[in-house]
Amino acid sequence: MNESTLRVRKNKLDSIGRKHPWVFSGALMEGQDLPEDGAVVCLEDPRGNFLAKGHFQNATIAIRVLTFTDELIDASFFRKRISNAIALRRNLGLFHKDNSICRLVHGEGDSLPGLVIDYYNDAAIIQCHSLGMYQSIELIKNALLDALGSELIIYSKSSDTLPKRVETSDNFLSGNCITPHLAHENGIQYAIDWINGQKTGFFIDQRENRALLGRYANGKKVLNTFCYSGGFSLSALKGGATLVHSLDSSKKAIELTEQNIQLNQFSGKHDTIVADAMEYMKDLKEDYDIIVLDPPAFAKHRDKRHQAIQGYKRLNAHAIRQIKPGGLIFTFSCSQVVDKYLFNNTVIAAAIESGRNVRILEQLHQPADHPVNAFHPEGEYLKGLVIQVD
Ligand code: SAH
Repeated sequence: MNESTLRVRKNKLDSIGRKHPWVFSGALMEGQDLPEDGAVVCLEDPRGNFLAKGHFQNATIAIRVLTFTDELIDASFFRKRISNAIALRRNLGLFHKDNSICRLVHGEGDSLPGLVIDYYNDAAIIQCHSLGMYQSIELIKNALLDALGSELIIYSKSSDTLPKRVETSDNFLSGNCITPHLAHENGIQYAIDWINGQKTGFFIDQRENRALLGRYANGKKVLNTFCYSGGFSLSALKGGATLVHSLDSSKKAIELTEQNIQLNQFSGKHDTIVADAMEYMKDLKEDYDIIVLDPPAFAKHRDKRHQAIQGYKRLNAHAIRQIKPGGLIFTFSCSQVVDKYLFNNTVIAAAIESGRNVRILEQLHQPADHPVNAFHPEGEYLKGLVIQVD
């Protein structure tokens, strides 16, 4: 394969020396011919010594590093990386009869920057965040079939995650099925619709936190805001909650939740609310023992961080002010630019504002099938707290 070479400026070698997998466009020496978007490039220092190989894209993050070893980026490379990623999930015990949902590949966390693969029972959904990965999709597909068998259903869904200028189509690459497709998490059945749903159809990253809610929920009345397909609601009901209200601004999301509630036969103890959570939380109509706050990322970029923090503070303040004495709030942020310290402080600020006593019972994060590459701290994005309000 023809690989272009790009040289990195002398004063920009530190980050790559620390094995950070991103090289910014400003780190490249000036006056070099840039390759086509998606190409595999070989990075060198100004003297021509090998540094790394990665996918090029004419953007702020110019290269996503695939390897710091001088090796070919070919079928065998993808086979190795993908089978390693799957081996980790097997070791984590994520494939069994009660759990058939997990993230198989988590970008930088699996040394495959730009690639996400989610798994539902017998179907793998590939989501590419870089053109280089999208152009490698045949190799990725073959590596998946090799690791998981030829019966595997594979669907490619990258039209939401690639730059708009790139022509993409979402389609089955292997096998076929109708969606929603059934799969299990923690013994609960879900109908997953990756074709029409958000992301790859399910928010897998909350698996452990949902299980934790289940352990606190016995005999409790729960409000699950930003419920999407109802994961927290079902976990609470399975854990013995007496009543759960699920709220989302999207009617489609509420339909998905209702479908999952029916599938698991919890209909008698559940109700739905289609509303804007921020508005609804201002004045709750009922008392709750547990409130779940799992909003979408309020800040996608650093310049929106201040605004996002105001949003998290307001939302948490409404919940803290109104929850029953002794009640619990499961509160989350998936904004990568709001780190866990800032998030904790924001929740503490909301507690101060409410005038109530608040204790932190649990500090939560993304699960092990969403690993953080130690050299890429940006990979840590999901954080949460369980707080008790006296
Ligand atoms: N807790 C969910 C995932 C939440 S994703 C789970 O466990 O699966 C965020 C959800 O928030 C989406 O379903 C989206 O439709 C919803 N949402 C976005 N803005 C909202 C708003 N202002 N009010 C209520 N829901 C909102």
